[in-house]
Order: sequence, then structure tokens, then C-alpha cells
Amino acid sequence: MMDRGNGNGRSDLRIGVYVCHCGINIASMVDVKRVAEQAAAMPNVVVARDYKYMCSDPGQEMVQQDIRELNLNRVVVAACTPLLHEPTFRGACERAGLNPFFCHMVNIREHDAWVHEDREKATVKAIDLIRAAVRRVKHHKALERRTVPINPNVLVVGGGIAGIQAALKIASAGRHVYLVERELSIGGHMAKFDKTFPTLDCAACILTPKMSDVKKHPNITLWTYSEVDKVDGYVGNFKATVRRKPRYINEDTCVGCLECIDACVFKEPRFTDEYNEGLSKRKPMHIPFPQAVPQVTAIDPETCLRFKTGKCKSSCVTVCDRNAIDFDQKERIEEINVGAIILSTGFQTFEPKDRLPQYGYGIYDNIYTALEVERLVNSAGPTEGEVVLRDGSKPRAVGIIHCIGSRDTKSNIWCSRVCCMYSLKLAHLLKERTGAEVYNFYIDMRTPGKGYEEFYNKLLEEGVHFIRGKVGAVNDWAITPEEEGRLVIRVEDTLGGFVRRVPVDMVVLSTGLEPHKDAEDVRRKFNISCSPGGFFLERHPKLAPVETASGGIFLAGCCQGPKDIPDTVAQAGAAAAEALALIDKGVVELEPNTAFIDAESCSGCKSCLSLCPYTAISFIEAEKRAEINEALCKGCGTCVAACPSGSIIQNLFEDEEIFSEIAEVLSNG
Ligand code: SF4
Ligand code: SF4
Ligand code: SF4
Repeated sequence: MMDRGNGNGRSDLRIGVYVCHCGINIASMVDVKRVAEQAAAMPNVVVARDYKYMCSDPGQEMVQQDIRELNLNRVVVAACTPLLHEPTFRGACERAGLNPFFCHMVNIREHDAWVHEDREKATVKAIDLIRAAVRRVKHHKALERRTVPINPNVLVVGGGIAGIQAALKIASAGRHVYLVERELSIGGHMAKFDKTFPTLDCAACILTPKMSDVKKHPNITLWTYSEVDKVDGYVGNFKATVRRKPRYINEDTCVGCLECIDACVFKEPRFTDEYNEGLSKRKPMHIPFPQAVPQVTAIDPETCLRFKTGKCKSSCVTVCDRNAIDFDQKERIEEINVGAIILSTGFQTFEPKDRLPQYGYGIYDNIYTALEVERLVNSAGPTEGEVVLRDGSKPRAVGIIHCIGSRDTKSNIWCSRVCCMYSLKLAHLLKERTGAEVYNFYIDMRTPGKGYEEFYNKLLEEGVHFIRGKVGAVNDWAITPEEEGRLVIRVEDTLGGFVRRVPVDMVVLSTGLEPHKDAEDVRRKFNISCSPGGFFLERHPKLAPVETASGGIFLAGCCQGPKDIPDTVAQAGAAAAEALALIDKGVVELEPNTAFIDAESCSGCKSCLSLCPYTAISFIEAEKRAEINEALCKGCGTCVAACPSGSIIQNLFEDEEIFSEIAEVLSNG
């Protein structure tokens, strides 16, 4: 790269100022022509231009041409947030031979045009901000990005359909994947479904071959019943500590014959089967479902007699000719080094019992959550697909209530995106299996996917009833003979304009999707951010939807926000592609806006050590001073502000840069 010199403090400082209209985003509130004219008269500015879309190819070319022809050595771009286009304009400068860190962006969109209503004041503010930038930029120094090698392995956290898809894509590209799943089997929520919408194809037929591929793939290390405890390091070079909980069965020798389950001294299953949403019982020796991967049993120490009393004759051990049962198995800690991480930790469904008691869940029999009904209609579920009420009879009428824990200021404000469609699917299956009249109670019918509206029309043709309105309550307070002994759904029919009471025998609550209860812990562990609702935050909703603000950490599936299976699979593919693109480069460039410590003036007070959120600061005892690992430093500036002796300096945020900017903003021009 040809370096045009920094011109620092010299009369040969040559600044170009570029003011963007951003269509009408900026131009409707800021007089960009006047701003550019004023900028042209500022000290050391040799050219100032405005353009409709500065980030476009002609816009960037304009900047590059001026750098070359007018010999610019500083560039100020007044446009949108640097979060979006700082790399764009730094790239343009670099291509024209100017050190990219001689470019500075001024945000006159989010910080000005979008937050003001007075055009004159917004215009003056834009001029002030640019004047400050023009004064600041002369102190900028030429900085170089450093490169560090990338570890080619990838960690995928969460083994639902998102994690499975991402792991298979990366493994198929020849990279090694560690897939860590906290449950006994991979498969996630999808493994619990019988059919998928809108095609009604069998979920297991789509999913189980992929699960099996994961197990067989030579490039995948699968650790189920395991959790990531700790992550250190930085993009390209992460070190993760994985805790593998004991299942008391040796995974390497168990062949999944399941004879130990039959032999368990508990002749009948009697403990809550979590996999079937509590609708069936299991033994202490169990496997979550017949197609589980890995096909290995597990002992629940909370219910196993051997663990509880030490007195069981352990007939499970007697029948296991593989000697796979190991009551002494201990937790194991594995440490792995990876270059990229994909988080696909999924979601949990809304729990309606205490949070929305008006819907009667947990109070009345025959009120189910949708996930429970998924198990009921599943041929591999607790009733082998037969839908009957608690008394064994078939329902004559079923009410499906949409938006339970979604689009509601008292629970979750967001739309869960899948509830309308899975409600339609369950309506179809319930009608098919029971012949019941099925009523859907909805606020708005949202069917925006491929083939979704057609599926809704099919349900209309099948004679499913749709009542538009938010259900007020479900109870058994009968006031007519028809309501006697039944559940009554009270709803304001907003199309008819009156309140209805609909007696049914079974109610399905279409519960929404929300972040896992430990999403906040996971967020902290991986140093990423959450959106206001608690789902993990992507770096940019449109331009970087699977990246996070932490380099090398990507998102896939519902941990980022509610989505259906096709979108989840697509996003998992995108996350895998991003991870591969990163590690295939072999090296990673680190941004130079990091902090460093002046060894001469550091007093060794250690004030900064505990403040760094990225544990980038260490103490050199022999020299009695602190040191920053620039590969770990994210340039947050916390330590810079805290150092009592002013010994910590941050590139691009040095005192003279900051203070000159502030001084100019506060001056009257
Ligand atoms: Fe079969 Fe032994 Fe595995 Fe039980 S532990 S499934 S008996 S191999
Ligand atoms: Fe069942 Fe006894 Fe074996 Fe425990 S030790 S799994 S209770 S047979
Ligand atoms: Fe840590 Fe300081 Fe870097 Fe912030 S600027 S990441 S506190 S070393």
C-alpha cells in the first residue's frame, strides 16, 4: 500500500469531506448542499462534496479519485453509523493508497437527521460535527492491522436442527467440528414433532438421517449431556472448557440394545418422562426416545435405587454383556481449541401455568400446551398417536388458542412466527385423528412462508372454524346445558362484534417461543449481547444477521429469534458458511483500535486488572507493571478511563484526538 504520509500538524494536511444524502434519510432533515459548502471552507479541507449514496460504487469511486488526484491525506465521511459503513470507506481509502485509519466517519443520520425535527438546527449540528471531525482527523496516525493464525476447528453449541445442519456443513467441507449438546440426545424440539408444516411430511424422516450422519461423520466429535463451562480467547483462537456430565453408561461400549431398561428392577415406569412433556413415565434406566443419537441409555441418579439406597440388586448390570454400566463414572472436563463458534442453543416454550392463569392450564384437565399435543399426535409418543381425553373418550370439540405468550404486553411482546402455522397443522391432525370440530382462536392469521397461505386455505376447506379475537378466559363455569361438564372458551369475536362462549372438550394453548432461561448466562460466557427480549443479538439485522459483535462467534436458529424450520436450516447454512469463510483464510486480521500501556509511566497500581471485561490485562511481576494482550483487547476503553496515571493509550482514541474533537464541538465555529 502506498502511504501518503500523515501530514500530522503540518501545512500539507489535505482533507476531503464527503456528505451523504442517504437517499432522503439525511437530506430530508439536513441541508446537505449547505453542509458541504461550509465544510469546503474549513481549515485544510481541499475538497467537500455531497452525493446521494456515498456508500455506492460511484460514491466510493469519487473518494478514491480525489485521494489520487488531489493527493488527499485525510478523509471525513459524514453519513450513517460507522457500525454499518466504516469498513466500506476505510476500504475505499486503502484501495486508493491511503492508510485506512486516516478516514473518520461522522454519524449525521442516527445522531442527527433521525433524531431532530428542526431542519435548521439539524443542519447546524451536522456542520459542527464535521468541523470537529476535521480537527480530530489531523491527529490520526497510520495504523496497521495485525494478523494471527486461525485454528481450523469449529465449536457448535446446541444440537437441534440448527446445530446439526451447521455441524454437517462444516464437517462436509473438511473441517473438524465439536458438537456440544446439553441433553442426552441431539435432535432438539424438532425430534418431538410428528409432522412439519405446511407439507405434513414426517419430521423424523427428515431429521433422523441427519442425526445419524452426525454420529457417523469422521469430522464430528459429538458430546451430548455436556455443556460449555468457559470460553477464553479471541476470533480464530478460542479455548473452550466443556463439562461432560456422567450418564453412568460407557458410550464407547454400549450398543443400545436397551436390555438394561427391561431388566431394571422397576418393572413399571414410574418417573416423569421429560421427553414426553410429562405425559408418560420412564424408569431410572432410560433413553429419551427410540431414535436417540447417540443410541446409549442413561441412569437418572435421582431415581435409581442403587444411587438412592445402595441396595438395588442392579439387574441392569447383570444383563449388560458389554459391561457398559459404570456407577462410578465421574464428570469429565475437556479442553478444546477452536477458531470459530456457532451458537445454536435454541429456545424454550412459554410456560402458561403461573404466567397466564386465565387460560386454566394446570387447573383443568384436558388443557394442553401445543408441545404436549405434538407428543400426543406423534405415533412414537406416549399414546402412539391416539388423541383421547383424560377419561379415555374422544373429544367432540377442540379449541386451539393462538398467541399464548406472544404479542402480549403482559408476557412477551414479540410474534413467535411459528404459532399460527403449527396451530393450523395441529388443527388438521386433531380433526383427522378425532373427527372433532376444531376452533382456532386467533388475533391475526400470519402465514407468510412458501405454501403457508395455501395450507390455511386447505384448513378452511376441511371445515376448521376460525374465530378472530383474543380469548379472555377458559374455565368450566357452565351456564347452558350444552356447556355442562365441558370447558368454555370466552372470546370477543372482533369480526362479529360480540362476545362468544364456545364449549369444547379439549383446549390447546399455542405457546410462544422465548429465550432459554439461561440465555443471559450463555451471553456472558460467550461475551455477546442480547436483544431487548433476551434473544442473542446479531451484529447487524440485515448485513450481518448471523454474526455477533464478538468476532468469530456466529448465531443459528431460534437463539437469535423465533423462526420456523426452513428459516432455521437456512440460517444454520449461513452461519456455517461464515465460519468456513473465516477459518479458510488461515489468518485473521485484528483491528488496531486496541489499548496499550506505556511501560515507562505505568505505576503498577493494578487498578486496571480487574476492570477489563475481556481479561486482556495481565501483570508482569518482574517489571511491576501491567500489560495488555492486544489480541484479546476489544478496545472498549474501560481501562483507559480508569488508569490513574494516564498510562493506558487507545489507538484512534488518543487524548489529542478526543479533546480536539470536543473542543471544536463546543466552540462557536
Ligand atoms: Fe445394552 Fe448394556 Fe447399553 Fe444397556 S448399557 S443398552 S444393556 S449395551
Ligand atoms: Fe434400575 Fe437398579 Fe439398575 Fe438403577 S441399579 S438402573 S434401579 S436396576
Ligand atoms: Fe480490556 Fe482495556 Fe482493551 Fe477494554 S480497552 S478490552 S478494558 S484492555
